[in-house]
Amino acid sequence: MFWRKKWLDDLPDGEESPFLECRHLLFEEEAGYPICPACGGLIKENFPQKNTDKARLHLIWKKVQKLWSVKFGEGYSLWLVLFPAIFVPEYLGYWLLSTGDYGFTSFFLPSRHRPTMISYAIEGYFVLFFFFLGQERTKRFTTFSLGFERFHKILYSWPVRVVLFALIIFLLNLYMPKIYEPYAQYYISKHDYLTPAQHAKGVELFIQTNMLSIWMTAGLLAIHELVDRRRTKWLKEANEAYLAGGC
Ligand SMILES: [Zn+2]
Repeated sequence: MFWRKKWLDDLPDGEESPFLECRHLLFEEEAGYPICPACGGLIKENFPQKNTDKARLHLIWKKVQKLWSVKFGEGYSLWLVLFPAIFVPEYLGYWLLSTGDYGFTSFFLPSRHRPTMISYAIEGYFVLFFFFLGQERTKRFTTFSLGFERFHKILYSWPVRVVLFALIIFLLNLYMPKIYEPYAQYYISKHDYLTPAQHAKGVELFIQTNMLSIWMTAGLLAIHELVDRRRTKWLKEANEAYLAGGC
């Protein structure tokens, strides 16, 4: 984007914001990599001098850019999580309430300050986003800035990630309904014509809508992480192929 380019041109080398620009952080065994395993960009310091090597690298780089996980994983998979996460809670609520005869068609009474479901679902998203929204670039940045390079491989290994995912889902299932219940009670009690059974159902549906949104987002984040891992794997393999002299 033009504004970003211009802004970065004004910055001295290496002072880019880590949130916008990749710093191409490499582990010891990746020292000679000409392609960044995190962002897929070319690394200036490791760029080959010889023309034959340049041509070889160009071929490999073109090839790896064509892979769907590399193309798709850079930005799109993030939006594929964020869009539904933002819009689903509201529509899921509408849909659930319109399919049954509950005595009310919205959790909230119409008013100028009518809240939206996302403001409640997001409380459950926070933990998920904190642990699972970051891609390879963010993971590396965290590792290098906090200085736990030696534990990076373990922390982001398959078993650890799966256990962490399961643990977070378990805790969310345990605590989030308790957090949503008072909100649900508060808003449903404003529909003062409801029978006790309808009131209880309303509370249950409010909690269900939020929990379903949280589970959906968790599932999308799992896919998002899978795509990112695959992308990183391909980028690393491209580097290994280059260093081994192939193309
Ligand atoms: Zn990079």
